[in-house]
Amino acid sequence: MQIYKVGGAVRDRLLGKPVTDIDWVVVGATTEEMLAKGYRPVGADFPVFLHPKSGEEYALARTERKSGRGYGGFTFHASPEVTLEEDLIRRDLTINAMAEDDQQNLTDPYHGQRDLEERILRHVSPAFAEDPLRVLRVARFAARYAELGFKVAPETLELMRQLSESGELEALTAERSWKEISRALMEDQPQVFIQVLRDCGALKVLMPEVDALFGVPQPEAHHPEIDSGIHTLSVLEQSALHKQPLTVRWACLLHDLGKGLTPEAEWPRHIAHEHKGLTLIKAVNERFKAPKDCQELALLVGQYHTHGHRALELKASTLLELLQSFDVYRRPQRFEEFIVACEMDARGRKGLEQRSYPQADYLRGAANVARGVAVQPLLEKGFKGLELGEALKRERLKALKAYKESAAS
Ligand code: ATP
Ligand code: MG
Repeated sequence: MQIYKVGGAVRDRLLGKPVTDIDWVVVGATTEEMLAKGYRPVGADFPVFLHPKSGEEYALARTERKSGRGYGGFTFHASPEVTLEEDLIRRDLTINAMAEDDQQNLTDPYHGQRDLEERILRHVSPAFAEDPLRVLRVARFAARYAELGFKVAPETLELMRQLSESGELEALTAERSWKEISRALMEDQPQVFIQVLRDCGALKVLMPEVDALFGVPQPEAHHPEIDSGIHTLSVLEQSALHKQPLTVRWACLLHDLGKGLTPEAEWPRHIAHEHKGLTLIKAVNERFKAPKDCQELALLVGQYHTHGHRALELKASTLLELLQSFDVYRRPQRFEEFIVACEMDARGRKGLEQRSYPQADYLRGAANVARGVAVQPLLEKGFKGLELGEALKRERLKALKAYKESAAS
């Protein structure tokens, strides 16, 4: 049997990027031989094994054929006769379809090295169209390597467009899609992921609510970039520049969905878009079964981001309601994520990227003040149950009024 390094490990070594996980392909072996050498099978129906010591993935060379809709609709054929070239041709991109032996001799039948040099993301063969997940993968690689100047080849984008129009994207499971989306959002330029999905028509299928923002104007005084879609991309870009966690990036992507619902006659104003957007945010959350913390933050940021921007003008009672809605007493982290999401929203505007955002510290201070109100003295006064809750609220309101006055002076 011959063993080769494949996929990302080869690609990233040639790019001079750090290699984190290594995938291997094994040519000329049977399952029985692998088991005899101590490799552990990964699943019952896939010819993939884990190395007995390193735990890295070793896959038998295989060919694949599509036999139905979606990912379940794949049949594969693994046998000692399958060649390295046959295994490589089923892969998504030419830059991912190179193999290397232990002497670093490259096998590159589909010119991945040339495409690496020319900074092109190009599909290996027409079989690309057999797995719609590849649309998301290509968009994710475009985001990851945008900084190096990589672009999607026009003919690959065309295939992605056909896949998007064919209805195949709908066959993806929420789990597979979310894995790609969440990884893409954590790249350095997640806005490129969304842009590429939009360019090939996939955004309209996957997240029509985000797609609908493009072409919708906002008032120039607050939004020099005008277009709501462009604004959303900029907010996402800011969230990556500021190394925000996934929860914040997800909330940034979805915060303005309500603007897509504004009747044209009301443009460029978007009255109550925060509230109108909530059903849309909920729909996107559920479509991809986003983790609970992502779902929650997206809804809260959607509902309250304008409160964030107007923090310094809010009445003490409104400020208190905001803090209560976030349950800042038990969930301090979530409120902090809300604050930074608002800041990203404020900076994701043309020419305003460097603006200061005093609202952030003001809100942090308000949360501290509300949290600082002690329960013990109220208990000692004999308050219980609902009355205790009311008394606590009154004390917090008093403290917030004082805070607001001191901040104003
Ligand atoms: P990463 O750095 O994100 O791990 P990778 O290229 O190693 O990038 P993996 O998901 O680890 O990506 O997959 C390893 C290899 O398997 C890829 O390089 C590619 O050749 C192939 N591959 C993975 N998923 C697909 C797919 N859906 N369709 C075609 N080929 C795929
Ligand atoms: Mg990998």
